[in-house]
Amino acid sequence: MSDPTSETPPAAPDTPDDEKPKKPASAEEISQKLEDFIKNTLGGQVLFTRIDGPMPRGKGETESKEGDDEPEKDTSIAFAFNFKPADIKAHLDRFVIRQDEAKKVLATAVCDHYHHARMLREDREQHPDATPLEFSKQNVIISGPTGVGKTYLVKRIADLIGVPFVKADATKFSETGYVGADVDDMVRDLVSKADGDIDLAEHGIIYIDEIDKLSSGAERLGRDVSGRGVQTALLKLMEETEVPLYSQNDIRSQMQMMFDTRKGRTGREVINTRNILFIVSGAFSGLEKIIEKRTNRKAIGFVSAGDPERTPAEHLFRDAVTKDFIDYGFESEFIGRLPVRVVCDPLSADDLFAIMKTSEGSLIRQYEREFAAYGIKSIFHDEALREIASRAAEEKTGARGLVTAWEKVLRDFKFEMPSLGLPELSIDAELVRHPAATLERLRGQAKPLQSQIDEAHAHDLMLWADEFFNQHGFDLQFEPPAMASIAARAQREGLQIAALCSKLFKDYPFGLKLVSRSTNTTKFTIPPEAVEQPDPWLSELVVQACRPPGEEAGTPVTSE
Ligand code: ADP
Repeated sequence: MSDPTSETPPAAPDTPDDEKPKKPASAEEISQKLEDFIKNTLGGQVLFTRIDGPMPRGKGETESKEGDDEPEKDTSIAFAFNFKPADIKAHLDRFVIRQDEAKKVLATAVCDHYHHARMLREDREQHPDATPLEFSKQNVIISGPTGVGKTYLVKRIADLIGVPFVKADATKFSETGYVGADVDDMVRDLVSKADGDIDLAEHGIIYIDEIDKLSSGAERLGRDVSGRGVQTALLKLMEETEVPLYSQNDIRSQMQMMFDTRKGRTGREVINTRNILFIVSGAFSGLEKIIEKRTNRKAIGFVSAGDPERTPAEHLFRDAVTKDFIDYGFESEFIGRLPVRVVCDPLSADDLFAIMKTSEGSLIRQYEREFAAYGIKSIFHDEALREIASRAAEEKTGARGLVTAWEKVLRDFKFEMPSLGLPELSIDAELVRHPAATLERLRGQAKPLQSQIDEAHAHDLMLWADEFFNQHGFDLQFEPPAMASIAARAQREGLQIAALCSKLFKDYPFGLKLVSRSTNTTKFTIPPEAVEQPDPWLSELVVQACRPPGEEAGTPVTSE
């Protein structure tokens, strides 16, 4: 095999015609082959990240089909932004409970950011030689405890305005040590999220959680040795820089570049971060102590119990100034690039109840859909929601606690209900408090239901057998397993018992007449085999009945 990293690709244009592959290999194929080769050669000690999605393309560039070098119609449109802050807030209100201040501040910051970006672009187009307008980017810090909607708010905004959204954890960067390379990956991920549209990616949102872990305060706690370095790398992105579309440290990325070059794609090779909005978040535990000292007020933590003498942390956090963040251990340049600060409040049990009851993204809707998939109507009573809300509130993990609390209660119901055959599940306080006992009770209800079904089937079968007797003069006695088999088959095939029996035993009047002539029998016991394979069973019966006297008669299959 030739060296795949060499500059001459295997199917170079000067390859003789008969050796040329009919269709060019796809980027996926090339990079997969390369990955396998390198892994085999270097023993798997290679880091790969995938460039998913279509080829990157810039404004005015178009995506061409595999093997098709003809350019298609240009479908790329410049990113358009026509929202007002109130539109965004109204959208957030549908999904996110509480956090009113955060909704307003974020909605305003996002509108400022994208309107500025548009105006700058228009200004550049109209006056290419003029000094660019001054614009201070509206990057945001969101502080607040876990699970209260910080990520959810940003994700919902990105969905609404149609920009790609990438979330990363700040701790990831400090752990790998590949500081510069890793933060750039977030920008490349935006291209992937934007289906290769670089212009759209350049208007994306990068959300970095646990940013507080990058402070030198965290370093002192021994958690992180490279927080400062990551801050510097992030600062560069937040200011304005050009990130290479193809990572130097990633072989797949390099291969993608080779492939694009071979295909004659020599478009954009960098992503500019000027218009990317950065939103960082964290719980910033300990920041309240710094504000407390500066303002001479006493604080209680985000998740501590109420104490009238003390100010809740979220109130103090609203007074945080740049110096507090610097004292907390951030570089002043870094924190200076995050001018918009907003606080998300902890969620009370009432808020958690409202999330389940009214949010469009409520996980109750999800559970309802899950039960409905098995034809079960689930009814969630408010008293059950309240019980779960108060349990979740105790966990101090915000709305995440709801998932934990419900999973614990509903786990066995989700497993068993689909098999019990009950049409409805009423989820009330009793069920939440005593799930095992409730499930036992439901099992009890399911049994009589099952026997009711069996009784109904037996009755229908008896009516059919009576009719058969009246019409043909043969008395059919079904063995219990045969009855069960008919009932199961009727259910499986969605047929009434009578319809199924008429279909299964349509040749029996004639066959049984033959048997009856030889044996003078009019009463037949029907075993389950006759239900599974009615015709072979009948043939065997006829053969045995017509056997000349004295011949061995095999296994008797009928009585009398
Ligand atoms: P964090 O504040 O840690 O970023 P998330 O925003 O990821 O927490 O919240 C986790 C999940 O909890 C969300 O996906 C959402 O379903 C739910 N959730 C959290 N806060 C709210 C809220 N205020 N209103 C509605 N749902 C919420």
